Amino acid sequence: MRATAVINVRNRPSDVMPNFKYTPFRTYCPERCGYGSVWTASWECTRLSTPGKVETMPLAIAARDLRMDYGNFTAVDGIDLEVEQGEILAFLGSNGAGKTTTIEILEGFRKRTGGQVEVLGYDPEKAPLSWRERIGIVLQESEPIPELTAGEAVHMQAGYYESPRDPRETLELVGLIDSADHRTRKLSGGQKRRLDLALALVGDPDLVFLDEPTTGFDPSARRESWGMIEALRDLGKTVLLTTHYMDEAEQLADRIVVIGAGKIVARGTADELATKVDATTRISWRPNPSDAQPPAALGVRVEPATGIARIDTTDSLVTLHQLTNWATEMSVPLPELNVARPTLEDVFLQLTEGGGA
Ligand code: ATP
Repeated sequence: MRATAVINVRNRPSDVMPNFKYTPFRTYCPERCGYGSVWTASWECTRLSTPGKVETMPLAIAARDLRMDYGNFTAVDGIDLEVEQGEILAFLGSNGAGKTTTIEILEGFRKRTGGQVEVLGYDPEKAPLSWRERIGIVLQESEPIPELTAGEAVHMQAGYYESPRDPRETLELVGLIDSADHRTRKLSGGQKRRLDLALALVGDPDLVFLDEPTTGFDPSARRESWGMIEALRDLGKTVLLTTHYMDEAEQLADRIVVIGAGKIVARGTADELATKVDATTRISWRPNPSDAQPPAALGVRVEPATGIARIDTTDSLVTLHQLTNWATEMSVPLPELNVARPTLEDVFLQLTEGGGA
């Protein structure tokens, strides 16, 4: 049974909410502090309406054995996908992996060739108009009517919905209120993306599809967009985000699904994905030629081209402790000491190049 909420506390809060069943789990320290990882205790809670009966929320998206063949070519090869309500899920994959095809099927814009799909309780191929109102879509590229101002475009879009959000409030939410009177053709790339998001949100959708929302952005515009996407989480929206950027997935998503050649190759949190691959930490420094030789047990290798000494270890805390103890005793300075955990990018490359997990 899926949990309906996760409460991050250090102590079991059973006296506060006796109707909840708590299962302890451990998670990486969110600050990713220092070398290695720090474990914090949390409690995963499943809401119980009556003792022994688990109350579950319907999934926002449930796809089983989803397939899409373009003629003889299989673009989506039997994938299973579940997205919980209120979750931000990042759908990660390299070019041509099958992300857009999958998303278009979920949005009801493409007819699948196999499998079952339910989005907000409906098969997208047969869903009524009221279903479409519950879905917001931000495409990779869009061209709003150039003669309209940003404010007029959002007002016009609001008119298509029975109970839209307040257009001004929506413009504020995406940080476009100061440009509400600017013609859409005069908006910068970043402002256009904000407008795209405002147009997707003004119908007050429950589920938002964001297709590569920050592609082509400079780093500061990307950070701003992340703030907007995090605001969607605060509104309780479910978000399915496709992206090529590992840092984006790591920053925003509750869970990540990695697709490669039409198949899901891994799924989980960023930390869970890191454990699915060779999770070696690299400790390195630039030794001076006159330095004492480190003990053989540390397994130090010196790269001939750069002169950098390095140790690859799966137990970075212990190795670092041994290294720094030795260095202190022998007065070896360990210049340019660096400890590098595998990045999500390393993980992604290993997963997609390896072809399956
Ligand atoms: P990108 O990140 O580049 O947008 P993607 O992961 O979204 O890639 P898709 O656009 O879903 O990938 O494409 C998956 C595969 O299906 C690709 O090999 C693509 O060339 C192929 N494909 C997509 N649409 C069609 C189509 N209409 N007809 C034939 N092949 C198609």
